[in-house]
Amino acid sequence: MFRDITTLLKDPVGFRITITELVNRYSGMKIDLIAGIEARGFIVGSALAYQLGLGFVPIRKKGKLPAETVGHDYELEYGADRLEMHIDAISKGDRILLVDDLIATGGTAGAACKLIESIGGKIVECCFVIDLPDLGGRSRLEKQGHKVFALCEFE
Ligand code: 5GP
Repeated sequence: MFRDITTLLKDPVGFRITITELVNRYSGMKIDLIAGIEARGFIVGSALAYQLGLGFVPIRKKGKLPAETVGHDYELEYGADRLEMHIDAISKGDRILLVDDLIATGGTAGAACKLIESIGGKIVECCFVIDLPDLGGRSRLEKQGHKVFALCEFE
């Protein structure tokens, strides 16, 4: 079952509460940049970055970014995929909050963490609106040494 967040985004009260909850969690934490994963991570991540007064870095699927990129290949259930970011988007030692709408198996977020770390970024936390705990993504990221936060869970 696909957990659709477009109805949440369309609801002005629900969207505001979602971002406000995340602002309350992350204001005061030492974060240099927010990195959001294509595509719904852009919506949540950029709203959060704006409210926190931080810059936003897009992590995109292969071939979408205009300047020189660095990439990370990862396995999916059926096949493989690649995430990319601009090679100069993050400076060594930058503290990065990774944002996406949802974590399922954790494959996408895990690949994004590896990509960020490959150019010297430090992951402060991986932040999601929704966690599907039965699919094991949180524990997969925690095993890789990352902190994980999600606003809600669905079975
Ligand atoms: P994972 O790599 O953790 O298995 O899948 C998470 C990625 O796929 C995220 O980028 C997320 O946007 C997308 N995704 C997978 N399943 C769903 C779903 O049920 N609902 C939404 N909104 N996104 C999903």
